Amino acid sequence: MKKKKVTIFGSTGSVGQSTLSVLDSHKNLFEIVGLTINSNYKELIKQVNKYKPKVVCIVDNDAYIKFKNENNSPDVIILCGENCLVDVLEFQTDFVMAAIVGSAGLLPVIEAAKLGLDIGLANKESLVCAGNILKLIIKKYNSKILPIDSEHNAIFQVFENSNKGEINKIILTASGGPFLNKKENDLINITPEQAILHPNWEMGKKISVDSATLMNKGLEFIEAHYLFDMTIEKIDVLIHPQSIIHSCVSYSDGSILAQMGTPDMRTPIAFALGYPDRISAPTESLNLAQINNLSFSKPDNVTFPALNLAINSLKTGGSAPTVLNAANEIAVGSFLDKKISFLSISKIVDLTLNKSSICELNTIEDVMEIDKQARIDANEFIQKEK
Ligand code: NAD
Ligand code: MG
Repeated sequence: MKKKKVTIFGSTGSVGQSTLSVLDSHKNLFEIVGLTINSNYKELIKQVNKYKPKVVCIVDNDAYIKFKNENNSPDVIILCGENCLVDVLEFQTDFVMAAIVGSAGLLPVIEAAKLGLDIGLANKESLVCAGNILKLIIKKYNSKILPIDSEHNAIFQVFENSNKGEINKIILTASGGPFLNKKENDLINITPEQAILHPNWEMGKKISVDSATLMNKGLEFIEAHYLFDMTIEKIDVLIHPQSIIHSCVSYSDGSILAQMGTPDMRTPIAFALGYPDRISAPTESLNLAQINNLSFSKPDNVTFPALNLAINSLKTGGSAPTVLNAANEIAVGSFLDKKISFLSISKIVDLTLNKSSICELNTIEDVMEIDKQARIDANEFIQKEK
């Protein structure tokens, strides 16, 4: 059987490494063509030795130089710089894992879509900042998005396209993050180390902070709207601290279909890589007899305003979600650098949204321009906040 050719954008990250772990268990089905990273060149050296990709791209110039000096795989083609990320797609591939964090992942997703490829989309920020444009490109070039985010992957698995008219709601579950049940007063002195300690999932730092503020669920709300063509009224969020039910679809006949599993990204990743077939994942299967409690509650939107900021940006439309996403990336980065407090993250996003005059987005260049300006504005508010 012909092997499926896979390229991973962000191969050294949490999703990137989970993807490699799934591929490890299916060497007969997949071949790795390209790997891209920002700066962790030591990990990339190990990956290149093990997986023998045709091409790699390293965004950070210092890391590129060090990689070239220490690399001992003479055949691999080495590209450098963010402009070369998309050049990796000149090497023939069937499946792209979009696992870069932030809107830095947008252009590779756009390029993969233009090539009509299957895209495993972990990089939710690209849909948040350019949802309508990306959808048009996907349709025009007959590309396909397979959601990697566990919630959207769950919905994808139980979403009956032929009965779409009978779907009352899609329900995104949220663990609630490390500060579930805390109140604003408890969150004043939160450190980055505390914020990235997620109770159920091991993830990169940015998404871990987003989970702690609930902005992650806000970004996922926007992601769900675009992926499943659901209006805002038809999307719900429920706190489910055990992270066993990864999300559900509620139908008009009273049935709620859910996907369950242990919280391990290798399940949605294997689903996307194998699609439309199911392939095994190197994960523990859920032992239902050991689960004695699945609980659900409404999110606390007073203590965690980020979710509503995101929903409101979607209601506003146009450039608002792009501004929200860019401001959030800057604010989370500043929090991780200990420049602003945990509670200031949502405040900076709110201030940036209020300052921005919302406009229509017609091209990717429009998106990049809005993203750039929102970063400048967010940084200005951060200077005042410090
Ligand atoms: P991570 O920080 O662990 O890894 C990010 C990867 O992107 C790394 O390989 C890094 O080298 C690369 N990268 C970072 N900045 C870059 C830049 N400017 N240009 C090019 N490459 C860059 O992040 P992660 O947790 O793996 O998350 C990746 C994406 O997947 C995010 O969009 C996140 O929201 C989404 N996601 C992650 C999880 C998870 O379990 N980690 C779950 C659902 C969705
Ligand atoms: Mg998720």
